[in-house]
Parts: sequence; C-alpha cells; structure tokens
Amino acid sequence: MEIILATTNKGKLRELQQLLTDKDVVLYSLDHFQPVPDVEETGATFAENARLKACYYSQQLNHLVLADDSGLIVDALDGAPGVYSARFAGTDGPDRDQENNKKLLSLLKDIPDEKRTARFCCCLCLASPAEILIEVEGFVQGVIAHQSKGENGFGYDPIFYLPDRNKTIAQLPYEEKNQISHRGQALKKLLAKLEPLLKNQ
Ligand code: IMP
Repeated sequence: MEIILATTNKGKLRELQQLLTDKDVVLYSLDHFQPVPDVEETGATFAENARLKACYYSQQLNHLVLADDSGLIVDALDGAPGVYSARFAGTDGPDRDQENNKKLLSLLKDIPDEKRTARFCCCLCLASPAEILIEVEGFVQGVIAHQSKGENGFGYDPIFYLPDRNKTIAQLPYEEKNQISHRGQALKKLLAKLEPLLKNQ
C-alpha cells in the first residue's frame, strides 16, 4: 500500500517510516509531488486538524493520505498550548522551539511539581479522496521540568520529563522515544486498524 504523508517535515517522515519498516506500506512525503497550496489548520482540536489535512490533500492528490496533528497539553494552563503548540511564543524562525520552551517555563515558574502534569497528543487520520478511513489518537503523559535537558528530539522534548525514566524525552535515544511517544502510540493503533485493509488489497 502506498500512502502520502501530509507533511514536508523530514523528521516526521523518518519517524513514521521507522515504525513501518516491517509493514507492506510505502510512505511518501508531500515533497515527492508537485506542490499544492497549503491548507489552513483552522480546527479547534488536533483531531479536526488531522481530518482537515487528510481530506484536503487526498482530494488534491487523488490518493490515500495520512495526516497528523500533534502538540502539548499542559493541565495548569487549561490545556494550552494545545493546537497552538508550534507558534506558542509567536515566533517562527530557527529559535522557535527555544522561545516556546522559554515561554512555557516562565508561565509555570510558580507552579509546584505536582501541578506540572502535561501530555503530548497525536491524532492521525487516513483518508481516501472519497472518505475518512481511519482516525486514532495517542498520548504520552509526563511533567514539565524546571529546565531544559537533553539534545535529542525537537519542540518541547527537552522540558518534557518522564518520571518513570527520570529523563526528559530529549535524553532518550530516537528508538526509545518512538516506542513510547504519542506518535508511536497513535501509529500502533493505526496499524492495528490498517492490517485488515492491507489483507484485502
Ligand atoms: P505539528 O503540528 O504536529 O507539527 O506539531 C505542533 C507542535 O507541537 C510542534 O511544533 C512542537 O512544538 C510540538 N510537538 C509535537 N510533537 C512533538 C514531539 O514529539 N516532541 C516535542 N514537541 C512536539
């Protein structure tokens, strides 16, 4: 089965390809095709944004498309940054992740450890030009640390602390992150629902 991943992000493509290595699925990114105009992510939830992107690109490219939307939900901030995770600090340059982390740490500076709970969420949607075929979501639970630690990963990984491993996600090797990450969890659920479709091909 050939699936187009609705992203030009090479990191995401690599992460999902790694998780699909032993499956009968070939993934392409949008870079593989003639450019189509971006779609605005106007959804109020991760699920709505994933659905919006999957339907739009599958109709534009007349092909099966897998879209994802993900971000961070912080309990002490009533779920923020949520769907605004990417541009939480309002910057969009190379310092974007650093600025987002700085803003989050500053908003939480007086919040005690037990109230710094948070989770990453990832919603995946697989659509054909005619219909939505599969929708799933995955989570990873953690705590917002008081300072950045680790060099791996991206985004909020250096301040997302996993109490059971005594490490931030940025301190984990890629394979370990993939096993436990919200994207990894969502993809496992997607694969379980995809198996019957692969058998019927
Ligand atoms: P996207 O819309 O799925 O690309 O993700 C939106 C934003 O959520 C990213 O720019 C990151 O700030 C954050 N995010 C999503 N997934 C992760 C992750 O695995 N680690 C750290 N940050 C993430």
